[in-house]
Amino acid sequence: MTIQQLPIELANQIAAGEVVERPSSVVKELVENALDAGATQLVLDIEQGGSKRIRIRDNGSGIVKQELTLALSRHATSKIKSLDDLEHIGSLGFRGEALASISSVSRLRLISKPPEQEEAWQAWAEGRDMQVNIEPAAHPDGTTVDIQDLFFNTPARRKFLRTEKTEFSHIDEVIKRIALSRFEVGFQLNHNGKSVRMFPQALSEKQQLQRLAKICGGGFAEQASTIDAVDGDFHLTGWLVPPEHCRHQGDIQYFFVNGRMMRDKLLSHAVRQAYEKYLPNERVPTFVLYFELPSEQVDVNVHPAKHEVRFHRQRQVHDFILTRIEQALMQLVATDSSQSAV
Ligand code: ADP
Ligand code: MG
Repeated sequence: MTIQQLPIELANQIAAGEVVERPSSVVKELVENALDAGATQLVLDIEQGGSKRIRIRDNGSGIVKQELTLALSRHATSKIKSLDDLEHIGSLGFRGEALASISSVSRLRLISKPPEQEEAWQAWAEGRDMQVNIEPAAHPDGTTVDIQDLFFNTPARRKFLRTEKTEFSHIDEVIKRIALSRFEVGFQLNHNGKSVRMFPQALSEKQQLQRLAKICGGGFAEQASTIDAVDGDFHLTGWLVPPEHCRHQGDIQYFFVNGRMMRDKLLSHAVRQAYEKYLPNERVPTFVLYFELPSEQVDVNVHPAKHEVRFHRQRQVHDFILTRIEQALMQLVATDSSQSAV
């Protein structure tokens, strides 16, 4: 056996295995990039559940012509420079892997025009060495990433794709989550040329409740109470549904940590424990919660898709969430029974 350096395309395809599981993972990475670029308006055009096409246009800061090649290269990012930066992550991305990985398992075109640049340019990579080509393009301020034929060259992955409907429902879920985390950003989601979701920018409280109702249902928006609790560096806000109105399925359990949607055992345990003694049989906690803490107290570099985090002060985080939700629920239950007693 001789040891050989892998061609860049192959190395990127292997890396893609970690972050690009299905079309919705591509959508998540691209939307996060647009948000990191300060976009306030995103339009997503999806075809055939994303396996034919995923195109995302944003009005963010764009990428200058000289950096398009870098944007498509692995381990190239504008978001961190040092290990120290990794300790205080303020952006959603930082691995510098998404565009290179996705580009190695699809036909990807990156088109961008920063406001300070006169013309728009487009770039794409091809071949074993992922050689980048650049051409002039027409595009307003911002960026479009246009991806066609996801997994066309990795048949093993392509085989795992489910029906168009299932893949699209995963994409829809990703957009709903992100829309819940960024009320100030407008989202438009189209599938096969039809408008599926339209979330206009929601700056006022009324607009936010409208978005909440669109995503979690009218019942949720009516029944949920707000929570707003602070303790030192910790801040918990969001909406809690009173125990007796909680749902039978756990489909509305959204927990965001510093703006990132999480599926974290510690957090779900704390919420479940807080609800436990009030919850009628076969109901599950129903909530949309946002937990903010200083970025240096949480490690997001645990999982490539960043679904999990590690808290430095695990116990304190758990107890803060548990006790504050318990207190909020106690009040809800008390007001509810005093109302029904009238
Ligand atoms: P990461 O997000 O981890 O930095 P990516 O591969 O997702 O890595 O993106 C590489 C770089 O390309 C980003 O750091 C950013 O500078 C640039 N970029 C990607 N998408 C956009 C976008 N929509 N708008 C502006 N810049 C972008
Ligand atoms: Mg990224």
